Amino acid sequence: MAGKCIFCGSSSYGSCSYSPHGKHEHNDDEKHCVYCGSSSYGSCSYSPNGKHKHGSGGNKCRYCGSTSIGSCSYSPHGKHEK
Ligand SMILES: [Zn+2]
Ligand SMILES: [Zn+2]
Ligand SMILES: [Zn+2]
Repeated sequence: MAGKCIFCGSSSYGSCSYSPHGKHEHNDDEKHCVYCGSSSYGSCSYSPNGKHKHGSGGNKCRYCGSTSIGSCSYSPHGKHEK
């Protein structure tokens, strides 16, 4: 469990009163969700858009971990995001 919320400095996850989207967001690495710290992909109950989003790094999609480009079934906007 690395890092702290980039908006308030808390080490917890969930509702954040300092965040523009209402959730703590950690400055985490590409192996962990910035909203909950999970190493998995898919539905995230702490995410403002309902999807795990990993930190950037390793040239991988932040929503599914793929290194390809194009459509992404895990992304809230339908595209891989690096
Ligand atoms: Zn916070
Ligand atoms: Zn998550
Ligand atoms: Zn993706």
